[in-house]
Amino acid sequence: MSVSRGRQFLAIPGPTNIPDRVLRAMDRPTVDFKSDAFQPIQREIFEGLKKVFQTENTIFAYASAGKGAWESAMANTLSPGDKILIGETGAFSIFWGQAAKGLQLDAEVLPGDWRHGVDPDALEARLREDTAREIKAVCIVHNETATGVASRLPDLRRAIDAAGHPALYMVDTISSLASIDFRMDEWGVDLAVAGSQKGLMLPSGLSFLGASEKAINASQSARMPRSYWDWNNLYEADGSLRFPSTSPVHLLYGLTESLSMLLEEGMTEVFARHHRLAEAVRRSVAAWSEGGGPEIFSLDPREHSNSISTILLPEGHDAEALRRTSEHRFGLALGGGLDRLNGRAIRFAHMGDLNEPMVLGGLAALEMSLAANAIPFAKGGLQAAVDYLGES
Ligand code: PLP
Repeated sequence: MSVSRGRQFLAIPGPTNIPDRVLRAMDRPTVDFKSDAFQPIQREIFEGLKKVFQTENTIFAYASAGKGAWESAMANTLSPGDKILIGETGAFSIFWGQAAKGLQLDAEVLPGDWRHGVDPDALEARLREDTAREIKAVCIVHNETATGVASRLPDLRRAIDAAGHPALYMVDTISSLASIDFRMDEWGVDLAVAGSQKGLMLPSGLSFLGASEKAINASQSARMPRSYWDWNNLYEADGSLRFPSTSPVHLLYGLTESLSMLLEEGMTEVFARHHRLAEAVRRSVAAWSEGGGPEIFSLDPREHSNSISTILLPEGHDAEALRRTSEHRFGLALGGGLDRLNGRAIRFAHMGDLNEPMVLGGLAALEMSLAANAIPFAKGGLQAAVDYLGES
């Protein structure tokens, strides 16, 4: 049986719900992207993005998946054979390491247990050992979409500074930007990688890269071969920024609208709403977990992600079967466990265009699915979320 009426509830971690306002903004005829009418729109977008990244630095943008911005960050600032240090947080940190190896970088992993963010003390210790200053970049996934753990970026910046290390600080904000507070300049981030399909509430297909002055200076001596990603191709003759190749006109119409929506709501309220909705999910899971039920995978409350919760099932229960039930019987699409969490965990995303009833609907569908799959859990999870949201 599968749900055939009403909208599917989307709790996958991207692409996320596209607000009707954004859909309407994209529903229009194509225009010449070089025309005088379109150029100001492109300029406004770069200005709006700076507010979301909380930066005065340069933002580059591409028609590409988020991984394209990873490649751009590395290809423009590093040289073949350079050593980089990647904080192990989960599957996406591993994928980043694989991408780096593909570019002939020497990717060292700073080990982690996946249930915690990158440890600032361990980072500082490793950087202090690097007296030859071989490590050219420290790469951190801000919000590990596989585990629902958000690393403490300001503490990691302090660790780099405490070690007096000159490495570039590269951060993947793909599942944090516009959902969880991210301050590129205040936190001394040199390269900030982002994508369109999560907090920015758009289809996938745009990637963004914030670059500090230090990163731009590094690009002048970086010897990695690059063509499409080359930052030099991203400037108009007058110095303003542009897209390489044909501009993705409709995605940019959508982005104009999603930026307006975010800035109208106010970034502080956007982060507060994500916190509130995430906390409701955590309260549900905490109630279910009594007596051996599912549990939040993240262990340190300071690092719980406000954009996605990874929920570990009790031993011996099949997370993929649970996902099939929730999708086909109750109309809720959940993310699956990645890598070593495959089959053991589900991911309940709460990012982007989302409100209280949508999250409560998702939690109700999940509670019904737990029961339908005979997964042990204590009653009262949905009620805990209702009580919390009603009072907060
Ligand atoms: N990094 C993180 C943290 C992600 O969550 C994702 C996708 O979910 C990626 C990188 C890859 O992004 P894309 O699929 O747009 O290439």
